[in-house]
Amino acid sequence: MSAVVIVGAQWGDEGKGKVVDIYMEVADMVVRYAGGPNAGHTLVVGDEKVIVRLLPSGILRDGTRCVLGQGMVIDPGVLIGEIDELGRRGYKGLEARLSISDRAHLILPYHILIDGLREESVRADKAIGTTKKGIGPAYEDKVRRTGVRAGELRDLDRLASRVESALEAWAPVAAALGGKLPSVKEVVEPLEEPARRIVRMLDNTSMLVERAIRDGARVMFEGAQGTLLDVDHGTYPFVTSSSAVSGGAAIGAGVGPNRIDTVIGITKAYTTRVGGGPFPTELDDADGRHLREAGAEFGSVTGRPRRTGWIDLPGLRYAARVNGLDGLALTKLDVLTGFERIKVCVAYETPNGRVEDLPIDLLDEPQVCRPVYEELQGWTEPLEAVRTLDELPKAARAYVRYLEEGAGVPVYLVSVGPRRRETIMLHNPFFGRAAAP
Ligand code: GDP
Repeated sequence: MSAVVIVGAQWGDEGKGKVVDIYMEVADMVVRYAGGPNAGHTLVVGDEKVIVRLLPSGILRDGTRCVLGQGMVIDPGVLIGEIDELGRRGYKGLEARLSISDRAHLILPYHILIDGLREESVRADKAIGTTKKGIGPAYEDKVRRTGVRAGELRDLDRLASRVESALEAWAPVAAALGGKLPSVKEVVEPLEEPARRIVRMLDNTSMLVERAIRDGARVMFEGAQGTLLDVDHGTYPFVTSSSAVSGGAAIGAGVGPNRIDTVIGITKAYTTRVGGGPFPTELDDADGRHLREAGAEFGSVTGRPRRTGWIDLPGLRYAARVNGLDGLALTKLDVLTGFERIKVCVAYETPNGRVEDLPIDLLDEPQVCRPVYEELQGWTEPLEAVRTLDELPKAARAYVRYLEEGAGVPVYLVSVGPRRRETIMLHNPFFGRAAAP
């Protein structure tokens, strides 16, 4: 039995797409358990770049069963659009191996409208910086018990009455924001075509995943966003609306936490963040710009330049704790090539003195909460061709070991470029110690 959760250990965009794709080579099933079409995994297959937002990255592997779990919010139009786009690129028969929880919630046009109006109405420094895909309002509907679930696509009349209640609940919000909600008809009619296709993919996915695990299948739970964006454990209120941490896999897929064997946290060799919110190790200088250019740090959904900074060890230790990390996948080590010195945040100075755990509720008070840095030696050699730890330049190897010790979590994989082969595989949770792919 092996069930592995892959989770972002920072603020998302850690390169989960590539890492999940590598492990998928040996997995039978991949399950997304939280979030919606804001994930934006970038996969590089051969020389082709493919961005998937809703579908699990594992969708590109023939024979892999892909599951959209009930913890997700799904935009029917985006889902069908993604399947058709991949179809045009030669990935056929996806619908036959995609299962969608009938309990997942739907993102409907009024969610997108409200999301956009809200982001535009607040002052820039207060904006969450959402992707405006309607995800937050769809989760609000879920918690307010006015949500519409995928299973309701089986009966559009019933769905229409659910939409009517939701529109009533949103009416005062839309009026206050100066927006006009669509009518029930305007919401339901465009759903007719996607509904016909989606209904065929609906399933009791909790049972499907549980059975797969029981039958000895290798199951991968693919997180979206990152630990510090989790609604409970992130830098609230600058967070996403779902449980991005590993515990979210049990809830969002509908299996018990004891079904999960291994949790892998993905971290970049530095840090990035998209949107608003605290980011203490952020660099607003030439080093920061260099990280952005060398790491191509522009949002895959929005194209927005990402904020960049040094790695944060207290943050990694925090991610290790709240996720129960067994191992780390360290990505984009190659991007640090060329820095003479590399800084690592090792602790924080706070009004309570120096702390080694992430002072998460103080992070937005830079006057009282300051990162403490250590400096490590950089290296100049390109890393893309490196396939073992021993082949790494000495300083790069020392950097990896330093992070491993500082986070208190062993490194399972080091990524040294965007391509699948540009990887140092140290431990594969599905197999144990592994040779490089
Ligand atoms: P995700 O949502 O966590 O998958 O993050 P992104 O979609 O933003 O992926 C990060 C970007 O970095 C993608 O363009 C990847 O192809 C690329 N990438 C992933 N791993 C590496 C790496 O080790 N080195 C470099 N240079 N690029 C990488």
